[in-house]
Amino acid sequence: MRREGPPRASNSAPTGGSEAAKPRARGDHTSAAFDVLARELDAWGENGMRATLWWRDDDAERDSPQLRRLLATARVHRVPIAIAAIPAGADCTLAAAIADCPPASVVQHGYAHANHAPPGERSAELGAHRSVPERIAELDRGRETLRALFAHRFVPVLVPPWNRIAGDIVGALPRAELRGLSCFGARATREPVRGLVQANAHVDLIAWRRDRRFIGAAAALERLAAHLRARREGEADASEPTGILTHHLVCDDDAFVFLDACCVFLHDHPAAAWLGVDAIFSALPFTSVRSA
Ligand SMILES: [Zn+2]
Repeated sequence: MRREGPPRASNSAPTGGSEAAKPRARGDHTSAAFDVLARELDAWGENGMRATLWWRDDDAERDSPQLRRLLATARVHRVPIAIAAIPAGADCTLAAAIADCPPASVVQHGYAHANHAPPGERSAELGAHRSVPERIAELDRGRETLRALFAHRFVPVLVPPWNRIAGDIVGALPRAELRGLSCFGARATREPVRGLVQANAHVDLIAWRRDRRFIGAAAALERLAAHLRARREGEADASEPTGILTHHLVCDDDAFVFLDACCVFLHDHPAAAWLGVDAIFSALPFTSVRSA
């Protein structure tokens, strides 16, 4: 697999062939479960396309054993990861942990992850419950906090808490120096307003309404393959990278073992390519189709 950079030159070689003939990924403890993803990635390769992916982790405030394990996974496999930090709670221990992990970038997870919706409504910090200037002023404070803590590792991309944001504020985000927006689910459009690129996460590894545990390798791989398939078949925006969403604080051992196996597997597949936030949220569209 490739990471960020120009398309590889030798992509004319078909990546197909039976799954049985492919070497198994090292540490792949659920090899049968990976077949669904292998078949989908093979199809991308046979179409001369690169299956772009990205990794977003939410709710970071300070260092913890779970955060260290997550960052170690990204570092060992050299996979870019976007850490969505909560400005009001982010501290210098988080900055130190990020500094130790070169593939990590920091994006802005709202301001305080505070719910401003009335009882009975779904939780939201950036809903229309407060004025646009009030919310923008808060986001401005948060952006400057993260910039001071993380310097060049901070990329001005907004991840709204609970993945919810009211439409009234979206148009103001570029003026608040935010160039990216990331929620959950297939995006409707790449640039909801001029100067703002949206790229969402699509596969949440946690079953929040069930037991807040890992959804399991089979479900995770099926969901990854499903979004990739939708992109390939034109049912979703082919240029939106497929986003894996984690929350390190509730990642259990099974989830970490899966992430490790997934990184190994994707590294070994020639049609898969991780993207970092700088590439995803740049002004120029990123193409999934190899150029030459
Ligand atoms: Zn959150």
